[in-house]
Amino acid sequence: MASQVNGHSSGSDAHGGKSLREDLQQFLGGEALLHELDDLTKVNPVTLETVLRCLQARYAADMFYTSAGCTLVALNPFKPVPQLYSPALMGEYHAAPQPQKLRPHIFSVGEQTYRNVQSLIEPVNQSIIVSGESGAGKTWTSRCLMKFYAVVAASPTSLESHKIAERIEQRILNSNPVMEAFGNACTLRNNNSSRFGKFIQLQLNSAHQMTGAAVQTYLLEKTRVACQASSERNFHIFYQICKGASVDERLQWHLPEGASFSWLPNPERILEEDCFQVTREAMLHLGIDIPTQNNIFQVLAGLLHLGNIRFADSEDEAQPCQLMDNAKCSIRTSASLLQLPEDPLLETLQIRTIRAGRQQQVFRKPCSQAECDTRRDCLAKLVYARLFDWLVSVINSSICADLDSWTTFIGLLDVYGFESFPNNSLEQLCINYANEKLQQHFVAHYLRAQQEEYAVEGLDWSFVNYQDNQACLDLIEGSPISICSLINEECRLNRPSSAAQLQTRIESALAGSPRLGHNRLSQKPSFVVVHYAGPVQYHTAGLVEKNKDPVPPELTRLLQQSQDRLLKVLFPTDPEVKSQEEPSGQSRAPVLTVVSKFKASLEQLLQVLHSTTPHYIRCIKPNSQGQAHTFLQEEVLSQLEACGLVETIHISAAGFPIRIPHQNFVERYKLLRRLCARISPAPHSPFPDEGHSEWSPHTKAATLQPLLQDILHTLPALTQAAATLG
Ligand code: ADP
Ligand code: MG
Repeated sequence: MASQVNGHSSGSDAHGGKSLREDLQQFLGGEALLHELDDLTKVNPVTLETVLRCLQARYAADMFYTSAGCTLVALNPFKPVPQLYSPALMGEYHAAPQPQKLRPHIFSVGEQTYRNVQSLIEPVNQSIIVSGESGAGKTWTSRCLMKFYAVVAASPTSLESHKIAERIEQRILNSNPVMEAFGNACTLRNNNSSRFGKFIQLQLNSAHQMTGAAVQTYLLEKTRVACQASSERNFHIFYQICKGASVDERLQWHLPEGASFSWLPNPERILEEDCFQVTREAMLHLGIDIPTQNNIFQVLAGLLHLGNIRFADSEDEAQPCQLMDNAKCSIRTSASLLQLPEDPLLETLQIRTIRAGRQQQVFRKPCSQAECDTRRDCLAKLVYARLFDWLVSVINSSICADLDSWTTFIGLLDVYGFESFPNNSLEQLCINYANEKLQQHFVAHYLRAQQEEYAVEGLDWSFVNYQDNQACLDLIEGSPISICSLINEECRLNRPSSAAQLQTRIESALAGSPRLGHNRLSQKPSFVVVHYAGPVQYHTAGLVEKNKDPVPPELTRLLQQSQDRLLKVLFPTDPEVKSQEEPSGQSRAPVLTVVSKFKASLEQLLQVLHSTTPHYIRCIKPNSQGQAHTFLQEEVLSQLEACGLVETIHISAAGFPIRIPHQNFVERYKLLRRLCARISPAPHSPFPDEGHSEWSPHTKAATLQPLLQDILHTLPALTQAAATLG
């Protein structure tokens, strides 16, 4: 009968120690056992409300994982639950004959995935897609899964194995603290919020041992280097340096105790993430030696001093803005830490050079105070983004296995979930676009898999009507005209256009789209996209500029003059790199906008995902304060809606809510069958005796359909009989 698909958990389909009475009670919607329903496809009826009640009951009973058909729902406990992640438990799931029969757990998904990759019939690469809003537990989950694989798929003990730090699993695990130090920050939603998306491929050899890994990152929020919302912080690494540097290092990096930096807000907050030593050790294990580390930290200190540079407004437009008095020291220190010549640094911030005319004559135009600030911020973002990418490449070269030493992989995707704020901009558009793509992948993959299985089983089956989000994707990325193409067009034309004009252009060009909503909520120019997870209003002000993400070529040229060893690597004097930085109008190279780069990397990711069997984990945040034992219905509800969970359950439940291996089915229901036969003799008499060939494990599900009908037919009589028995 129906086999397991994609780690689909059939929950307590085995005996699971439950009585027939309990089964019946559950079937009839018994409240008392709500928390025992470990698969949401079993709640009856499946509505947002019943699903919510079930999750709440389970949360109260410290049951943080629940299956939802092909998905695993993970509730954030917001408290340490060490027994839930112990190596012993990892071993239990790894050793279980059928891990999906144990309680729902990320290890069950992990183990199922690991077994699929080893399938002798069809070894296929696997992926685990972890989603959820900020603070829901995505990074925690993918970290735990990495630890799980480091244990169950440990590489063979080599001669050097006594050098624990050199073991590949350790190195892979060490990539986490390093990437989190540089890419995570304390935000309103999560003290350790990842400000980038991550896809890590765990590479396995033919003996299914982990021999390496490769990391791909997406859309680092580099603006955070120079601009943090109030009550939020910069990336952890800056605080780690300032708090953890030794006396000598403080002297070297000009970071006296108690120094104040405008790009380092809220330094008084003490977080467990602020451990400099952990980052340094992890870097060392990844092969980043102490001198290189010091070089990195010196550059970061240079950026902190850069952030303290202030300009006074110039009264004469023809004159450059002058430095504020106390900023003179900052620019000197910054220049010395970044090993840049001081005067050109100042001049690059103050004066724009424009090339114009056939001869490409150079004009020099002093910048306004605001423009100077923008250039300063841009310089910092440029350095930080290149540094982050370089770190990722160093990590990759340290953990990636040789091509011929791995045959299959398990991919872990930890990306930002669907976002809808009062003020949404290009970042949210990209993030929600990615989620829309992933949702489409999910629905297409899961429906296809399920329907194929039903066809094999010969079941009477009509296609499920699910929400198709193609229209939304057409609106965002379609051709020839879509939101992306219109925003890109504005960048290409490089014409001055107001936020209101952009709104009009989008609304009139795409008026026919069923997914373009109406802007009723806001006075500001904006447009509304009706996503699968709900409508989101995007403000058009600043959208085009963000999409261009312009880097004045003078800034790159300046950094290429640096004498610093690291900056020389980050900013080589390579003509190819240079041409990308030239804004349009000055070069004929096509403009690489943020959206087009993001779209390209997303397409690449989806190509990889399509080549794998996906597994889904949806993380849910029970409350936004991060408190244990607090389940706020309203907040959970909006997340259930945003991830389309009820729809997911419907997709699972629209078919057959429970999939029971044939033998288990016989064992479990033979009693019921006899009862049925006594109360109302079966009209089709499809009940062969046990042992009859039709009960063989090869029976197709279709042949059992009449049997199920008979059971349902007799159920009212059975219930009545049960009631008289008390
Ligand atoms: P996300 O990556 O989704 O933004 P995180 O994975 O960083 O969220 O989780 C946010 C915080 O929630 C973590 O720092 C941790 O304190 C807590 N947390 C998440 N999952 C668990 C868990 N399974 N057990 C205990 N605490 C958790
Ligand atoms: Mg995260």
